[in-house]
Amino acid sequence: MNHKFDIIIIGTGAGGGAVLDTLKHSGKRILVLERGTFMLREKENWDAVEVFQKGRYHNAEDFYDDKGEKFQPEMGYWVGGNTKVYGAAMFRLREQDFKRTQHSGGVSPEWPLTYADFEPYYTKAEKLFNVHGQRGLDPTEPYMSEDYPNPPISHEPVIQDLYERMKALGYQPSYLPMGLRLNEANRLNSECIRCDTCDGFPCLIHAKADADINCVRPAMGRAQVTLLTNAQATRLITSASGNEIKSVEVEVNGVKQEFSADVVVVACGAINSSLLFLQSANDKHPNGLANQSDQLGRNFMKHQNAAIMALSRHENPTVFQKTMAVADFYFGDKEYEYPMGHVQLMGKSNKHMLAADAPKLAPGFVLEEIAGHTIDWWLTSEDLPDPNNRIELKKGKKIINYTPNNEEAFQRLQSRWKAVLQECEVCDTILDHQFYLGKTIPLAGVAHQNGTMRFGPDPKTSVLDLNCKTHEIDNLYVVDGSFFVSCGAVNPSLTIIANAIRVGEHIIDRMS
Ligand SMILES: Cc1cc2nc3c(=O)[nH]c(=O)nc-3n(C[C@H](O)[C@H](O)[C@H](O)COP(=O)(O)OP(=O)(O)OC[C@H]3O[C@@H](n4cnc5c(N)ncnc54)[C@H](O)[C@@H]3O)c2cc1C
Ligand code: SF4
Repeated sequence: MNHKFDIIIIGTGAGGGAVLDTLKHSGKRILVLERGTFMLREKENWDAVEVFQKGRYHNAEDFYDDKGEKFQPEMGYWVGGNTKVYGAAMFRLREQDFKRTQHSGGVSPEWPLTYADFEPYYTKAEKLFNVHGQRGLDPTEPYMSEDYPNPPISHEPVIQDLYERMKALGYQPSYLPMGLRLNEANRLNSECIRCDTCDGFPCLIHAKADADINCVRPAMGRAQVTLLTNAQATRLITSASGNEIKSVEVEVNGVKQEFSADVVVVACGAINSSLLFLQSANDKHPNGLANQSDQLGRNFMKHQNAAIMALSRHENPTVFQKTMAVADFYFGDKEYEYPMGHVQLMGKSNKHMLAADAPKLAPGFVLEEIAGHTIDWWLTSEDLPDPNNRIELKKGKKIINYTPNNEEAFQRLQSRWKAVLQECEVCDTILDHQFYLGKTIPLAGVAHQNGTMRFGPDPKTSVLDLNCKTHEIDNLYVVDGSFFVSCGAVNPSLTIIANAIRVGEHIIDRMS
């Protein structure tokens, strides 16, 4: 096999997939390296015991926390990366998220580019990932140059009823923007069947808009694109000057090989990209590649997330529940002047999912009864960049140091949301109590990982320049969630995809 290419892309998740989609038209010879394989289509794709209790599709190796405790982060190494199991909620960051914002727990810094710089790429990203939505309902929605490419996903009756009640009380619920290959106007021709095993599951029938289905497979079969699976990049080797990547060391099915290219694009996810840079340290880059700023691996963010299930006397037979979002508290409210965060519906919980978190809570039939009566919410608050929250490599051990911050806002969001549910009579008073099941997502929940190689104009304070090229190495780019300066309080994928398209277009310009 030829070992010399024009471009090497490492990783095929949201960022790697989107940059491949952009570069596939460039006429350049592209090698795509992915440490995972294609995910099997199997009945277990839609089996909640396999997915939630046994963690079938989380295949990351052991990591350690700052106390030396071993844990397995909930990450998947597959063609398509974590988008294989993601919930497909596709949000743009808000305009204010790009600006300096005061939070109760500190400052969310300004990005070096504005929302206006990203807007055209968000529009392209929404098309690439079949996003459904409706403009004009979400009070925090940023300006959009085009309408969503697909109509919003309709609410089922229980959710529609709740939507009306919230509106009547003065709240501003909106449709959740979702990336699915769904055609509600013509269900006979729809790939997506609106099932109850979507959020956190792979899609057995390939109807979810993920990076595998929407980006990688459409690029295959082109003479210029070569994909190697089971191919883990283990080291980036620089030239003697340290100014360019000379070759990429890769273990292909466990056998070491080297490949070279004029441009190398890293998209291993914010945790693994920084680890690859750290383990590629050499004489010219003794603290890890491109790390004169000492920012490599730092400012790791993952959002503060919680799942809250509100228990009602009334049954909730909703099948596809992930249709509504509420942003009324995103920037605070009249009782709390600081940003609180975002609320959205999750996939409908079932007894196996409840048992995964509380195996001893109750017997199966009780859990089934409970799950049949909950409405399930996902709450997100912004965590702020902290240089001490960092990815490290010590004596071969992969370490995630993370202390949550901005916690007051997160607590306020949770109590504010419970008050709304009470006001809307979602959660009944039973035996003088209102019952909520739920959990705060622990460190292993790194789904929204970002920020470990922030971008910026100043090489002293950032790892990547404005084109997401490393300041120090002329042919090395990063297009996953690493570049985030702050993370807002909405799901990150659409921003990662939009940025990867932006960087891909820059690379085409550069190479032509
Ligand atoms: C359960 C779950 C639900 C989620 N729901 C949502 C949601 O609703 N909306 C949303 O916006 N986001 C969601 N996310 C987050 C979303 O999946 C991530 O933000 C997104 O996938 C990150 O893209 P990425 O390109 O940074 O990395 P990834 O998608 O993680 O891709 C990284 C890729 O690099 C590969 N790789 C890693 N190291 C190497 C190496 N050394 N050599 C070769 N290949 C390598 C990995 O195998 C993987 O394919 C969810 C995530 C999870 C886990
Ligand atoms: S809801 Fe649609 S996209 Fe999601 S898993 Fe079911 S069929 Fe697939």
